[in-house]
Amino acid sequence: MIKISPPLLGKAAVPEDRPTQEEAESAIRTLIRWAGDDPNREGLIDTPNRVSRSFLEFFKGYDEDPVAMLKRTFEEVEGYDEIVLLKHIRLESHCEHHMVPIIGHAHVAYLPNRRVVGISKLARVVDAYAHRLQIQEKLTAQIANTINEVLAPKGVAVIIEAAHECMTTRGVHKTGVSMVTSRMLGAFRDDPTTRRELLAMVNSRGVSLDG
Ligand SMILES: [Zn+2]
Repeated sequence: MIKISPPLLGKAAVPEDRPTQEEAESAIRTLIRWAGDDPNREGLIDTPNRVSRSFLEFFKGYDEDPVAMLKRTFEEVEGYDEIVLLKHIRLESHCEHHMVPIIGHAHVAYLPNRRVVGISKLARVVDAYAHRLQIQEKLTAQIANTINEVLAPKGVAVIIEAAHECMTTRGVHKTGVSMVTSRMLGAFRDDPTTRRELLAMVNSRGVSLDG
């Protein structure tokens, strides 16, 4: 199991020497030349600017604070103390070794301890960590640990299934392979019944919501 030290949770520390827009575009022009093309030809002239703006989207998670996202909670609603599960959250991330996409989905569950959080917040926490350079194991742990720390629920479970383009479009070139990681805390870890209930919920097709 990967141990995540507290500073990695929440908002990332922005480096003081963050490059300017111009410096970023110049770096991308260098990579184009290095690949063997001419950054000044017509088709590529705006590419460094477009790529840098894509990077701002791919990596917007560095400027987001997943801890703050979960801070607004609601007191127990009518004593609800069963599993809350958000299934099939679309996951788009980038592998920190090759900077190519990791695409898949996440299931995030918690067992409330008197407090619940708006369900969209769970998806936003997934997004905030996913939009950073990641390895799937760390991403899984960061999401679970943050929910555990801020909500202090009776249990947290995060399951991620994703395909890594560093495996499909380069290296071993294996398609149709996905990687599954999970992090179970509290009741999901200690109580086999609770864990079974969760896995049944994850695997059920539900009430045909997804057609
Ligand atoms: Zn990779």
